[in-house]
Amino acid sequence: MDRRPLVVGNWKMHGSIASARALARAVASRGAAYPNIDIAICPPFLHLGVVAHELRSSRVELGAQTLSEFEHGAYTGEIAAAMLSDIGCHWVIVGHSERRALFGDSIFAVAAKSEAAVAAGLTPIICVGETLVERKNGTTNELLLEQLRPFTENGCVRLHKAVIAYEPVWAIGTGETASPNEAQEVHEFIRATIAKHNAPLADSIRLLYGGSVKPDNAAELFAMSDVDGGLIGGASLKAEDFMQICGAAS
Ligand code: PEP
Repeated sequence: MDRRPLVVGNWKMHGSIASARALARAVASRGAAYPNIDIAICPPFLHLGVVAHELRSSRVELGAQTLSEFEHGAYTGEIAAAMLSDIGCHWVIVGHSERRALFGDSIFAVAAKSEAAVAAGLTPIICVGETLVERKNGTTNELLLEQLRPFTENGCVRLHKAVIAYEPVWAIGTGETASPNEAQEVHEFIRATIAKHNAPLADSIRLLYGGSVKPDNAAELFAMSDVDGGLIGGASLKAEDFMQICGAAS
């Protein structure tokens, strides 16, 4: 099955309104050069409005970095899926390792957030991945099975409109990258796990790799048969680097 490549920029908690506007403008204008891939950028919440404005007539789509699992109500400080959709988001990252490790997003909260996203018409980008200790202990697959469990129930019904990003925690923001073969091995495992529950979905679902993807390693990672694109942190903050990564995917 031909899976359309997808490159997503996760800007994390960086920038100002002015820098977000400038970066979004650059990505919007240069995104036109890659019509055969999907491109999305995920700025901080407060910059979604200004970035949405810059992307309005481009083919680059808007995403958010997290969301509330609740629909609406007395949840001080939270942002609902419908609000993200309202401001123009198509995508939302859920279960990023920083959210799991620093903000207590549990496996169940990640599943609930993903469900809230789908209910509002958003596509969740579900992040999974092991720590260095887990990799060294040989428990990577076990951990992945645990993180995927809420999603593989009932024939993977929760994955019907989702993307999975494999992001080894030891490779995020560290300059360490999984080798193409290491990435492929895990992507193959994730796809095989989904296939046990829903073979057609396993074939069509997009699996992104994330973790220190840069212009000089993107092409070899994206060349692997089960790697359908990337979730890009640091390198998405520089238009030139991000566009070169998009070029590698295209
Ligand atoms: C990320 O945080 O999703 C990520 C992949 O970061 P980086 O590319 O900076 O490693």
